[in-house]
Amino acid sequence: MRIAIVGGGIAGLAAAYELEKARAAGASVDYTLYEERASLGGSLASETVNGAVLERGPDSFLTEKPAAIELCRELGLGGELLPSNDVERKTYIVVRNRLVALPDGLMFLVPTKLIPTALTRLFGLQTKMRMGLELLHGARPSGGDESVAALVRRHFGQEAVDRLADPLLSGIYGGDAEQLSAQTVLPRLVEMETKYGSLTRGMLAAHKRMKGAAKNSSKTRSGGAGIFTALRGGMSQLVDALVARIDPARLRTGTPVSAIRRAVGGWSVEAGGIAESYDALIVAAPAWAAGDLLGPVDAALGSELGGIPYSSSITMNLVYDEAKIGALPEGFGFLVPAVEGRAMLACTFVHRKFLGRTPPGKAVLRAFLGGVNGEALLAESDESLVATVRRELSEILGGETLSADVAPEHAQVSRWRRAMAQYAVGHKERMQRIAARVAELPGLRLVGNAYDGIGVPDCIRLGRQAARELMAAGAKTTTATV
Ligand SMILES: Cc1cc2nc3c(=O)[nH]c(=O)nc-3n(C[C@H](O)[C@H](O)[C@H](O)COP(=O)(O)OP(=O)(O)OC[C@H]3O[C@@H](n4cnc5c(N)ncnc54)[C@H](O)[C@@H]3O)c2cc1C
Repeated sequence: MRIAIVGGGIAGLAAAYELEKARAAGASVDYTLYEERASLGGSLASETVNGAVLERGPDSFLTEKPAAIELCRELGLGGELLPSNDVERKTYIVVRNRLVALPDGLMFLVPTKLIPTALTRLFGLQTKMRMGLELLHGARPSGGDESVAALVRRHFGQEAVDRLADPLLSGIYGGDAEQLSAQTVLPRLVEMETKYGSLTRGMLAAHKRMKGAAKNSSKTRSGGAGIFTALRGGMSQLVDALVARIDPARLRTGTPVSAIRRAVGGWSVEAGGIAESYDALIVAAPAWAAGDLLGPVDAALGSELGGIPYSSSITMNLVYDEAKIGALPEGFGFLVPAVEGRAMLACTFVHRKFLGRTPPGKAVLRAFLGGVNGEALLAESDESLVATVRRELSEILGGETLSADVAPEHAQVSRWRRAMAQYAVGHKERMQRIAARVAELPGLRLVGNAYDGIGVPDCIRLGRQAARELMAAGAKTTTATV
């Protein structure tokens, strides 16, 4: 069976790895991975500068989603897994240029502890009263989808959208709470509302269940696990380990696929003016690129894929000599709500979040800019972006902590154009329509961050699953035709 993979980001590489494993075990499978860029890994890109690990794209993955950790262990990277330093975990929100810590007891945007909520400077009195009264919110029959902002606003008011939902979602998804789908991004909250009415009551009940389950089970999270897991040498370690396992002859970098057609019994993939035939096809390029390629095959599918919105973003790593700056506030960093009117969406104190990846005496601040409202920033020069971030850092942290006059020892700017899919209102229905079209096109699989999870573990899961499914379907066809 011959399979083409279009796109060599983490999703495409995970698919190729799965196929390679089967091939090495004797399965009759042959594959080619086409990647437009000169390098593999897509958004995963790290480099070490003067001993500091700097991530251009993702810096870690969620520990509770097992696909990434399992793959790392399988690749012999178990010893390289590095949990986030959660004892120092504390996140701030910028409120009128001051850092206000997220109140204790906040779970998925839902306040669950009375006193920290009452005392926080994050919200005004009206919002706090509304948060208390939310306990009386009546159950709501499950209806259609709505935006995360609409859901949060109905329960906690506009200030909770501006000071909580917006910064958390733009800091994670580069997304806009007014556009993101509550059903897809926060399915647990939607379920809780249907069942309990009050999100606070729903969250408290879930918390109680979780505590009970943890007590009854000796198998709680393995000792020392953090909420996030990174790799000691950076995310590129995962890419390198995958590439090392895949037959290099099957990896075609610098080779954009220019056309996809259906052919007798399969698919034809054209790259560099040469068309090759395959039995099956895994499209692991971003949905907008997949839409362009598959539109001529199935116009409805092309248009659905092209309709998935994407945001662009910028990451900036600034390495400072700690002796030249003041003491940074405790914790992992801060998020900046859009209402603050700044270019920066978030800043991580990297040397605190993951220990041992920054040389002693150095501080690494990673700023995140852009998102759905910041496309224009991408056109600015590196110098201008760095100057903006240095000024904003100084204004937010205070000149005595980090004066804009103190130059970083190293500044690295990375632009990510249309790299992060946005699960907009109606995403679930769109996925159903896409699945119905794909079901009509035998041997086609779509994988990547646009479909069923934005994070690295989801992309790995989908990539491996697609490879397994196609091999299983191929094996069935072979048996049937023999
Ligand atoms: C700045 C940033 C920070 C992030 N932080 C985190 C994080 O901390 N944790 C986390 O879990 N996730 C994070 N994410 C999300 C996660 O990194 C991505 O969702 C994931 O890496 C996407 O992988 P992918 O393989 O689907 O797509 P991509 O990495 O986009 O790869 C797609 C590949 O397809 C190639 N391609 C496109 N068109 C063609 C064509 N015609 N022919 C051949 N090749 C083509 C592209 O060149 C690209 O290499 C972050 C993303 C970004 C951008």
